[in-house]
Amino acid sequence: MDSLLEYRNCPNCGQNDFEVLFESNMKTDDFNVLFDYRMEGHDSQEGVEGYLVPGKEWGRHVKCKNCHLIYMNPMEKVSQTNEYYFKAKNTHAPTIRESYLKTAESQVRLIQKYAIGTNLLDIGCAQGFFLYNASKAGYTTKGIEISQDAAEYAIMEFGLDIEAKPFEELRFPENHFDVVTLWQVLEHVPYPLTVLKEVHRILKPGGLLVASTPDIAGIPAKILRKRWWDIKRLHINQFSTKTLTDILQNGGFKNISSVSYRGFVSLSILLTMMLKYLDAYERLKALFNPDSILGKTLNKIMLIYPSRLNHCVVLGFK
Ligand SMILES: [Zn+2]
Repeated sequence: MDSLLEYRNCPNCGQNDFEVLFESNMKTDDFNVLFDYRMEGHDSQEGVEGYLVPGKEWGRHVKCKNCHLIYMNPMEKVSQTNEYYFKAKNTHAPTIRESYLKTAESQVRLIQKYAIGTNLLDIGCAQGFFLYNASKAGYTTKGIEISQDAAEYAIMEFGLDIEAKPFEELRFPENHFDVVTLWQVLEHVPYPLTVLKEVHRILKPGGLLVASTPDIAGIPAKILRKRWWDIKRLHINQFSTKTLTDILQNGGFKNISSVSYRGFVSLSILLTMMLKYLDAYERLKALFNPDSILGKTLNKIMLIYPSRLNHCVVLGFK
């Protein structure tokens, strides 16, 4: 069943010399079985689960001996994963909306400190929470999102300008954008260096790139190891601030620095996650229905955390 899998050289340095950090806990066939299962899940619980479930299935993780990037190898075939993203349902939007909108305010403030102009592209914009806040702050925004459902939400809810196509298919003009953002995207893409080089091409000289990913060298990852919620099937690259900085440098970016912003997480998201770790969520999930009074209240109570607790956020300039 090897046809379900795809092998890669290191997506940063291109070499094929690695040590295995941990083996996959899936049988080769599972790549296909679980893939189908996810595709069928169109009801609301499934949507929430798809987003919040702690890492339970993962592929083999390896560490490049040359540049130390950690990546999944082999990974699920790219065509299959893209098909999944294309059809992924957006049912968790009501649960995450409030906290993501609040977080987006911090992200916009971060951009305002460093950007040279207001023409902004967000790659992998999901439901458009960040773009909506950026456009309110005066940016001319464009978003790219391959999940058709999430793109539709962004268009309908916020009236945003979204291309529901893969980034590789869109050839933007050279030296075009003042800002490009990649919030939680590079851990999903099979060839992140290719994406970064293309971003470099379409940015204006002096233009700003902001990229964030989960932090494999962060405290939660160190404590929970394979049980860390960001070890999961769809996270095929695992960066630290060091390896993320390294790949931006390889993409041609200069003056790279690591930053942090204030993130917001609702009590609803936190409790859901904790209960899933305790395998108690299924019994109690009705409590978290975002339409119920309790669900609404839990969604409104926010905890603030520094993004660096679990994420690497780096800036680079063309
Ligand atoms: Zn490497």
